[in-house]
Amino acid sequence: MAPNIDHYNRRISYLRVSVTDRCNLRCIYCLPVKDLKLLDHAEILSYEEILDVIIAGTECGIRKVRLTGGEPLVRRNFVRFVASVCRIPELEDVSITTNGVLLKERAKEIFDAGVHRINISLDTLNRLKYAKITGYNCFDEVWEGLQEAEVVGFSPIKINVVAIRGVNDDEFHQLAELSVKKPYHVRFIEYMSIGHDSKWKHEKYISSDEIKSKLEAIGPLHKIQRATHDGPAERYRFESAKGEIGFISALSHHFCPSCNRMRLTADGKLRPCLFADNEVDAKTPLRNKCTQQDLKELFREAIARKPRQHHVRMPDGGECLRPMYAIGG
Ligand code: SAM
Repeated sequence: MAPNIDHYNRRISYLRVSVTDRCNLRCIYCLPVKDLKLLDHAEILSYEEILDVIIAGTECGIRKVRLTGGEPLVRRNFVRFVASVCRIPELEDVSITTNGVLLKERAKEIFDAGVHRINISLDTLNRLKYAKITGYNCFDEVWEGLQEAEVVGFSPIKINVVAIRGVNDDEFHQLAELSVKKPYHVRFIEYMSIGHDSKWKHEKYISSDEIKSKLEAIGPLHKIQRATHDGPAERYRFESAKGEIGFISALSHHFCPSCNRMRLTADGKLRPCLFADNEVDAKTPLRNKCTQQDLKELFREAIARKPRQHHVRMPDGGECLRPMYAIGG
């Protein structure tokens, strides 16, 4: 059996790498209610260690990497690291997820380093609301970062919107309309309960079906066929729109049967499923000078631990120990 096929015949080819647990925002749905526990610097994998894990992953069939966090752009020398990842010949796709706050200054360097696909998180177009959701008054920085990403040539530019009732459901039309005149992919993400003290409540959750029917008031949404490297988003387009609408429905429509993902946390754990805490520690072996072969074995172990599906069910939402910022979104 190929090293990246799991017990349920899924081919694991996508690694999401968190380069830090630090973030320059404090989003209400991402950070814990109580004390924020950040990792000591020594707990975080060095770039060299991360590269070793990625290379072992490529030897086990990883072909796609997304760099995330925390906020990846806050880590020092991130662009140099991006360039090293982009030089790994086996990788067919390297992308970044960012909140966009620092993007205006870094977009060109990141693009020149070899990353051309970017996801920018933006839940609202209203400055005041942005500050309420994220704790910081920096909507303009993000908006300018988004424009700069377009100017330097990122494609696609995906805008991630976490849909939360009573928070941004009054703006779904405006957000979706960004995809009409611009080539943006606006993706609505179902609000998930992540971390044992998350603020998730059933009343705040909105299913993708409900969002979709709200958006159909703008005009019909035409389904787009899935492409090879597609993630879990169901893709649609408004008539003659330049961009797309996506729905990521981790709760209402499990995409577990087609899940191809593995995660590497900033503290060096291979996490087989977003919602499962059965991680495999790669940091201790790395610091004990393990071989590339050992790292490949750890990858295989993590792939073997992938659950058939996550256990999160409505209406309780489920939970796992780590919050999103500590896993890598
Ligand atoms: N700082 C970067 C950013 O903001 O895009 C990357 C990390 S962030 C944890 C990655 C993504 O996870 C963001 O799009 C964020 O909105 C999403 N996210 C965080 N908590 C979430 C939750 N409880 N439910 C759904 N999405 C969540």
